[in-house]
Amino acid sequence: LPGAGVTALQHDDLAGMLPVPTVESDKYRRGVVGVAAGSARYPGAALLAVAGALRGGAGAVRYVGTAAEEVVRRFPEVLVTEGGPAGAGRVQAWVVGPGGGDGAARALEEALASPVPVLVDADGLTELARLGPAALAGRTAPTLLTPHTGEAARLLAGATAQAPPAADELAAARLASARRLAAEYRATVLLKGSTTVVAEPTGEVRVNPTGTSWLATAGSGDVLAGLAGSLLAAGLGTLDAASAAAYLHGLGGREAAAGGGPVTALDVAARLGSAWRVVRG
Ligand code: AMP
Ligand code: MG
Repeated sequence: LPGAGVTALQHDDLAGMLPVPTVESDKYRRGVVGVAAGSARYPGAALLAVAGALRGGAGAVRYVGTAAEEVVRRFPEVLVTEGGPAGAGRVQAWVVGPGGGDGAARALEEALASPVPVLVDADGLTELARLGPAALAGRTAPTLLTPHTGEAARLLAGATAQAPPAADELAAARLASARRLAAEYRATVLLKGSTTVVAEPTGEVRVNPTGTSWLATAGSGDVLAGLAGSLLAAGLGTLDAASAAAYLHGLGGREAAAGGGPVTALDVAARLGSAWRVVRG
């Protein structure tokens, strides 16, 4: 692999990362993940992010947003709260942005003001690109950004230190781009694509070897965001949460594709349980 500080995620590293409940566990100690996602236009993104969050090892999922009715109908185990993240009660990590539409700006502001880790995806990243890295300067807890290539290009355009790369340039230099984003925003960056890479502001990079091109399907990233946020709520650091989520999501995609046909995002979410089993042996 090219460059110092770049490692490929290994199967053996993963088992130790996953948060497994013990006799001491209760749902709150396992962590509550807050999901601020979905909008009138994209209610499905809320369902997909919640589906991923239910398989990340947190003890409970709390949903805030306009799709509360749909979420509870499909997932009765989810807690729903009116309003935004600010008044939502106990949450150990936030996922902000999948399908968030117009509500994403407020949700992002409120989540970033909280003292817990925040994962920013999709419309949350569009808003963050508008605000630039200064929006994260006051954070007391870590931030995890999960852009695809287009979102990464927008984020770099919002960072002022250097000229932003063009999208095709970014695709060709994924490791460097992920590192640069992490340094500019002082956040962990999970750069999605055919090979997903996770970068830290220190320059440390992990490359995910799992996955399948069948993951290039609508809603797939929303499942990943919920999954990674749930791992954060369960107590993993941003680097491990991002690494484990990418690895499990890739395995879930492969399991879903094992039948040979097209895969949906919900198929991937449904295979995350067996992805855990593959990792845990
Ligand atoms: P999003 O664009 O937010 O829906 O996220 C797409 C998800 O699918 C990410 O986890 C990507 O890493 C994954 N993905 C997209 N295209 C490919 C591909 N060609 N091969 C493997 N994974 C992909
Ligand atoms: Mg997405």
